[in-house]
Amino acid sequence: MHKPTLSWTLSFFCALACCQGTCLHAAAPPAKPNIVVIFADDLGWGDLGCYGHPKFKTPNLDRIAAEGVRLTNFYSTCPYCAPSRASLLTGRYQFRSGVTRNPTPDAGINDVGVPASEITLGEAFHAAGYRTICIGKWHLGHKPEFYPTRHGFDEYLGILYSNDMRPVQLIDGEKVAEYPLVQATLTKRYTERALDFIRRQKDRPFFLYFPQAMPHKPLAASEAFYKKSGAGLYGDALAELDWSVGQILATLKELGLDERTLVFFTSDNGPWYGGSTGGLRGMKGNCWEGGIRVPLLARWPGKIPPGHVSHEIAMMPDLYATALAVAGIPLPNDRVLDGKNILPLLTSNAPSPHEAIFSMQAMRLNAIRSGPWKLHLQPPPKPRIWKPEERWIDPRGPDGVTILAPYEQAHPSEYPGVLTGDETKAFSLFDLATDPSEQHDVAGKHPEVVARLKAFYERMNEQVGALAR
Ligand code: MG
Repeated sequence: MHKPTLSWTLSFFCALACCQGTCLHAAAPPAKPNIVVIFADDLGWGDLGCYGHPKFKTPNLDRIAAEGVRLTNFYSTCPYCAPSRASLLTGRYQFRSGVTRNPTPDAGINDVGVPASEITLGEAFHAAGYRTICIGKWHLGHKPEFYPTRHGFDEYLGILYSNDMRPVQLIDGEKVAEYPLVQATLTKRYTERALDFIRRQKDRPFFLYFPQAMPHKPLAASEAFYKKSGAGLYGDALAELDWSVGQILATLKELGLDERTLVFFTSDNGPWYGGSTGGLRGMKGNCWEGGIRVPLLARWPGKIPPGHVSHEIAMMPDLYATALAVAGIPLPNDRVLDGKNILPLLTSNAPSPHEAIFSMQAMRLNAIRSGPWKLHLQPPPKPRIWKPEERWIDPRGPDGVTILAPYEQAHPSEYPGVLTGDETKAFSLFDLATDPSEQHDVAGKHPEVVARLKAFYERMNEQVGALAR
């Protein structure tokens, strides 16, 4: 016989009491969780202590992994900035929104930006009654119609593009707040604004989108961190980024928001010089693993078990679907969404919801990952090998006080990834389960795998082609 559950029994008696006019108050709906997305710029898969870096110290980020979950096969959809951000904030491969290139004011690329037709995470959370803020690098367009404040964010503080693009100026809301910009204190000031924002949210849930400037070049750190890490300027900038994360965690705890807040940490793409891919081939700017595989950490006490690790495949647009799902906000149903809710991966040993995922550059699909297999769809560019004796500094020179330490910036000889391996052509296949560094092209041994992944590619490429026309 079916036994009534405790909750069913309580509901029944509560309903009965209400009918009799004795119920003093209806049960309050559960509080909606706050969502924090901390998004580093050009931070490599191997840059954090919890991903095995031997020298960089990241105790606060390691704590997120220890108290939450760490994913080892999480991918950006692009090995550079803007398209990765577009996929995060729209839940879709970037070819669907048209943000396939980096808006670049000093190269005259001014018309690329997130279109009004997209529903960004900012807009979705804002419409659901959340207070929303974006702090840091937007890079989804720098013309007014593309501003974060026009895409669902109540507040914005940051640089609208990369911190090496001119003019490097700090925008507050829609106004220039500082030019020339002191980059050394940028992480500190971004953090102060984030803490101020969190403290101001008493009565409603919030979405804090925090795309940090570091460790994108030019690297910078405030006085408290400069030359303190013992691991160069890159290590200093990373230590300050880690401090910033610690400040946010401490403030959430102090305000009693720990169990009501889901915190994500990831990076837009692989590392530039001076960072580490953790033994993966390539770097930012190509679709070897080092360019696209990035850390993903998440912490939500009471929901995500401590110390969980998932090796399942997931990608940047999944954060869109996951963040909206945990907030109980319906996904838009009038468009293709590529992201999936990966909460089951964060909380259990569930399998990946993806049979295959893609990475792309401009309007070209470059690589596909499915299970252990990685099929390159285009030949990656040949890396230029720099020798240590080849002096190199940013040839553009300082803009105001933009580059504080031009001779301490990471040198191109400090290549962050693995340089060896078979020549990679279109339709080179690698078995990442046995060959994570993509050294041996096994396409000739597994023609059936190549054919299966090519079929995925051709189907997706039809959608890319339809939008490219
Ligand atoms: Mg980047």
